[in-house]
Amino acid sequence: MTSTPDRRTIFLDEMGVGPVWTRRDGSHQDTAPETSVEKQPEAAVPSAAAPSRIASADMASPSGTAPSASEIAGMDWVQLKAAVADCVKCGLCKTRTKTVFGTGDEKAKWLFVGEGPGRNEDLQGEPFVGPAGKLLDNMLQAMGLKRGRNANIANIVKCRPIGADGRDRPPTPEEADACMPYLQRQIALIQPGVIVALGKTAALSLLGLDPDTSVGQLRGKVHRHGDLPLVVTYHPAYLLRKPADKAKTWGDLCLAMNTYAHDDNRQ
Ligand code: SF4
Repeated sequence: MTSTPDRRTIFLDEMGVGPVWTRRDGSHQDTAPETSVEKQPEAAVPSAAAPSRIASADMASPSGTAPSASEIAGMDWVQLKAAVADCVKCGLCKTRTKTVFGTGDEKAKWLFVGEGPGRNEDLQGEPFVGPAGKLLDNMLQAMGLKRGRNANIANIVKCRPIGADGRDRPPTPEEADACMPYLQRQIALIQPGVIVALGKTAALSLLGLDPDTSVGQLRGKVHRHGDLPLVVTYHPAYLLRKPADKAKTWGDLCLAMNTYAHDDNRQ
């Protein structure tokens, strides 16, 4: 007789990961068989958000009236959201429709950070909408999480970067630096247990690493952003283009879940 798949199995299937291995006691195995991700010693990570780069980004403020990094560091949620909505700290303010602050539980133990808004996000003011957002939702569901319930989703930049061809592009390092104080304040207010960096831009910006570093070099390790554990995986938009890497992503998420379960600094 065929048993009915549980919700987690369904979401793993939708992620393109399966079959789920089941132990004889009926519990799921949280390590994808397709990957050999192992927990490694925490990497040496530069201090959060490369302060010297933030300072230079503040100096580059086009209006001269944008809040400084130190002012942002003292904001509460209401002040922070208002500052982002009015922000002119970098040139992305000129072409945005809406700022995309982020969404989710403001006391979430899980923070997922992507690159920046795309066309749909810019129109709706929400992060991760459309097919990539649906895949991220499936990833969350497979982990037992949900938008707004113990998960928060943000981006490195809060305004859409548009290329000369009119298409989405990654933010420049200067744009990422200009916006980073807002994300830093979000992180300080949320106080997540684990950060998951989705894709290269998020990982490099949060870890302050060289632009030549690949996601492949960063996966499979537990990094630190300040005193918070950080795990790197692929961006959902990339996974839509390369679904074969979904299994690796599930391995990364298992590493993140293990880290969350065993991190000594977690409160
Ligand atoms: S991307 Fe960030 S720093 Fe730049 S204008 Fe938008 S909110 Fe301000």
